[in-house]
Amino acid sequence: MSVGIRYDWQIEEIQAIYDLPLLELVYQAASIHRQYHNPKQIQVCKLISIKTGACPEDCSYCAQSARYKTEVKPQALLEKETVLDIAQQAKASGVSRVCMGAAWREVRDNTQFDQVLDMVKDVTDMGLEVCCTLGMLTDAQAKKLETAGLYAYNHNLDTSPDNYSTIITTRTYGDRLKTIDNVRQTNVTVCSGGILGLGESVADRVSMLHTLANLHPHPESVPINILSQVKGTPLENQPDVPIWDVVRMIATARMIMPSSDVRLSAGRARLSQIEQAFCFMAGANSIFSSDDGKMLTVTTPCPGYDNDQQLLSLLGLEMRPPFVQKKKETVMG
Ligand code: SF4
Repeated sequence: MSVGIRYDWQIEEIQAIYDLPLLELVYQAASIHRQYHNPKQIQVCKLISIKTGACPEDCSYCAQSARYKTEVKPQALLEKETVLDIAQQAKASGVSRVCMGAAWREVRDNTQFDQVLDMVKDVTDMGLEVCCTLGMLTDAQAKKLETAGLYAYNHNLDTSPDNYSTIITTRTYGDRLKTIDNVRQTNVTVCSGGILGLGESVADRVSMLHTLANLHPHPESVPINILSQVKGTPLENQPDVPIWDVVRMIATARMIMPSSDVRLSAGRARLSQIEQAFCFMAGANSIFSSDDGKMLTVTTPCPGYDNDQQLLSLLGLEMRPPFVQKKKETVMG
């Protein structure tokens, strides 16, 4: 089986892939994974919350929204030295990508943005891929990030266009796509995916994948997150997402966006080693790891570096060095 990269996916085609018998789906996804990626390599990323909490947005799943009473303590923008120390420690543990997240609705042209640009430059100079997730962005701001050396910008679609307003009311799907388009006006790569467990239907999941797979080019990185139910948020009582739904979603993303990195992101902490291995077999080739057992905030757990190194070694996998995707893009033209 050999597939090319397409941007004209129909909803019915994606639904048919999602509905394949599970092991057939995983087998096909694993085969495609091997055509586009080194299946031995997993990229390990470290998320640094450079500004935490007090966010004016109302994302129903998020511990950082100022609208919900959660355990998150707001924290102003970190000093650059603190960020550099965390990045250095992450690099020493084999991390090749650092994602810096700020709980902002949008980027403003002020000294804080200048500080972030400075952080991007210095972490990039350490030889790490740097990704930022800072909220909405104009094309001029995207260009400034590009000039600072930014490798990727994360802006998740979260769910389907139809389901979006049940999860977030303070911005629209169109706003989301506009920021992605602004990033696309630069050489910064795009990281965009979604969250399972928001109360969405299978049709919503397929619809979100349809939107992502018809972006041209595809996002170079597609995070698949599993909801971590946070006390105090509207989604605190959502049921856990069944592991087979996670595997189906990863495998379908892998088949329709074959050259993208598919990231098994938030929610991995509650998966067993066997469940994570199944996700890797289905085409996930990236994880987030942390030294302090936290993904982004106190309420989102994340496996530690040591545990992850043991897991990868157990499965015969290795950590991917930085900038491998970029080299591949260059070779593929
Ligand atoms: S997901 Fe981002 S934009 Fe939404 S409330 Fe949380 S920090 Fe704010």
